Amino acid sequence: MSKLLAVGTVAFDAIETPFGKTDKILGGSATFVGLAASQFGIKTGLVSVVGDDMPTAYLTMLNERNIDTSGVEVVQGGKTFFWSGRYHNDMNSRDTLITDLNTLADFNPVVPENFKDAPIVMLGNLHPLTQSSVLDQLSEKPKMVILDTMNFWMDSALDDLVDVIKRVDVITINDEEARQLSGEYSLVNAAKKIHEMGPKYVVIKKGEHGALLFNEGNMFFAPALPLAEVFDPTGAGDTFAGGFAGYIAKTEDISFENMKNAVIYGSNLASFCVEKFGTERMQDLTKEEVHKRLQSFKELTQFEIKLN
Ligand code: AMP
Repeated sequence: MSKLLAVGTVAFDAIETPFGKTDKILGGSATFVGLAASQFGIKTGLVSVVGDDMPTAYLTMLNERNIDTSGVEVVQGGKTFFWSGRYHNDMNSRDTLITDLNTLADFNPVVPENFKDAPIVMLGNLHPLTQSSVLDQLSEKPKMVILDTMNFWMDSALDDLVDVIKRVDVITINDEEARQLSGEYSLVNAAKKIHEMGPKYVVIKKGEHGALLFNEGNMFFAPALPLAEVFDPTGAGDTFAGGFAGYIAKTEDISFENMKNAVIYGSNLASFCVEKFGTERMQDLTKEEVHKRLQSFKELTQFEIKLN
């Protein structure tokens, strides 16, 4: 069975959208990555940290989906990472209200022995030093390392972030963050600058406007499926990244052509994530639903045009 190693947060989120408000629910970048990757029948090993306030039922739910949580440290007496955000009326932009690192502040990740040779590694959104430490522990050079990050780490740990970016093959980042990281407004120029920082492939996520894949002169665009109901965009970026990484882990084909498919799979899964609050939709998503929507993606983007 193919293996994916994923590091990131397992968190409590409190979310406000124009459609409602949640108290602390399960969230975190690693959680969404794992749930997305579980769609590919692969084994995903999570590396993260939680406090003993994290209900075991949540970890069991992940285990039931082929997600190995032996690399998720439970700190006795510690509190789990907490994030709270409020979405604007357009549902595309949000304000972070609270980021409480809690147990994440002193986290030393330990990669489980059986994931040290994982061919594909997803460095989910987390402190860049933790991302680097995971790479340091690998016994074999992975076929592909994918990194996701956000403005929080650009603001608080830019030098460490630049160091880990040098070591990865693919970066997935949203449009505003690509602009912040590169200092370029044009996304084409931003991707070029980010290439120069290390990654051969740059994926820029544009929320409801889809995603762009860049690779030294090549460019590919995948739309986001226009949805009638967007309930809560939290985790869409991580779900995209998890779908991308999960598909690459399943196929172990790192060609540009195959990466286009990975972008489509990522967009497809992200379109489900936003339909309910938190992880709810991703937890009960079936293969049939995924395939049906992939068909809609095909129909959305395929056309015949005669060029005279
Ligand atoms: P996304 O909507 O894909 O950007 O991801 C939202 C998820 O990221 C939430 O479930 C949060 O728990 C988690 N998150 C928020 N801030 C951070 C951070 N600074 N580092 C890691 N994960 C975070």
